[in-house]
Amino acid sequence: MKYRKPWYNLRLRLVAWYSLLAGLSMLVSDGFMYLRFRQTLFDQIDNALEVTTIQALKNLDDEVDALMFDPRQEAPALASLLNDAGVEIYLLAQDGSLKEYFGDSLTLPTQQGLQPGFKTLVTENGRWRLYTQEILPRADRPPGWLTVARSLQPVDITLQNLLNQHLLKVPLLLGMVGLGGLFLANRALKPIGQITRIAEQVSVSGDLTQRIRYQGTTDDELERLATMFDEMLDSLQATFEHKKRFTADASHELRTPLTTLKGRLHVALSQPRTAEIYQETLQGIEQEVDRLIRLSSDLLLLSRLEQQHQDMHLELIDLSDLLAAIAEQIQPLADLQQLQFSTHIPSDLQIQGSPDHLIRLFLNLLDNAVKHTSAQGKVQLRAMVQGHCIQINVSDTGIGISPKHLPHLFERFYRVEKSRSRTIGGTGLGLAIAQEIVHRHHGAIAVQSQPGHGTTFTVTFPKYNHR
Ligand code: ADP
Repeated sequence: MKYRKPWYNLRLRLVAWYSLLAGLSMLVSDGFMYLRFRQTLFDQIDNALEVTTIQALKNLDDEVDALMFDPRQEAPALASLLNDAGVEIYLLAQDGSLKEYFGDSLTLPTQQGLQPGFKTLVTENGRWRLYTQEILPRADRPPGWLTVARSLQPVDITLQNLLNQHLLKVPLLLGMVGLGGLFLANRALKPIGQITRIAEQVSVSGDLTQRIRYQGTTDDELERLATMFDEMLDSLQATFEHKKRFTADASHELRTPLTTLKGRLHVALSQPRTAEIYQETLQGIEQEVDRLIRLSSDLLLLSRLEQQHQDMHLELIDLSDLLAAIAEQIQPLADLQQLQFSTHIPSDLQIQGSPDHLIRLFLNLLDNAVKHTSAQGKVQLRAMVQGHCIQINVSDTGIGISPKHLPHLFERFYRVEKSRSRTIGGTGLGLAIAQEIVHRHHGAIAVQSQPGHGTTFTVTFPKYNHR
């Protein structure tokens, strides 16, 4: 099966967004600079045109009755104004007819709608900027117009060069930004690639021992994602191994009584027997079958408890009544074993619980206590309120449990003395079931024991809160 690599697409998308944003910001900032620069150039030209106009007006001859420049001043003053290439001066009569002209080639049409102010003209010689001012009559001098023009060609060339440079620079910079973005995206998404590879390996090979073990520089999002992924694999591996062990243990536990049964049947059938022997054999077989039934129902209960998780239906129950009823059930057993059985149960202890499961839990604990305590010993069932919790102790003065067994006591099929426990009839699932029931009630179970002196199991439940 071919796997798509979403992180790969994500990388490309990141680079595309990164380049797009960089391109847009370049466009905005360069565009702004270009427009500002262009405006400055035009402002400079307009200023120069105004200054030239003022100078040229000063050169008008006031002493004649015609519109003309003062021939005495014209040469040095106007020549200096015209030094700047591309500047032309038009002196026009009021009807627009040309009176005098200074410039290179008389390129502009002069009579086009004469109006004071600035104007931009497009001619075959390129664009021109014009400034026209009205000449008022003075003494004998008639009115007219003065137009100063300047070619925009140098400005247009400068602006075009700037634009060309910008157009060249943008793809170059975008390329660099793209490469930088790719490098950054690669660095940032490296752990995602690792996670994907490991997820692929896990799903293809089913090998749950793989881990990412990502070491980021800071506690960033990707490190947290990688850590979560590793933790998920930890818990998957633990669950998987737990199930595997459980299945192997369960098969082993089922095989032992079946092999015994088969052996007994084989011996009984190997030759004709008396009726008594057949009866004895059948009684033995019945015992083994009972064990098998107990084992399979314990297995079923355990797997149901595991599947229920949080969904177990809990109802408000009076724990005091429930414990008293269980004590009544245990009393005959204790009497049979010649044990002193005592209880201390305050009234009105209320918890949220499942009565059937709680009966099973305390019967298991009390049954174990009775089974492992010899005659004249004591078994006690005590309940008490401890802050927001209710604590129930099941203690005995029996054989006790060695400290090396205590950490494993709640494991499935764990028996302290395998052969002895089997003869007593335990399935090795009693305490595992007890622990599962306690956890489903949001409680805790613990054990304390001293070999030769006795054992105490302590169960703690949250107290029911009246609101
Ligand atoms: P079983 O069903 O075989 O009794 P459990 O899970 O109930 O299995 O108990 C596991 C082991 O813990 C038993 O094999 C037993 O040896 C030991 N055990 C349980 N309760 C006591 C007790 N009160 N005193 C001594 N040993 C105990």
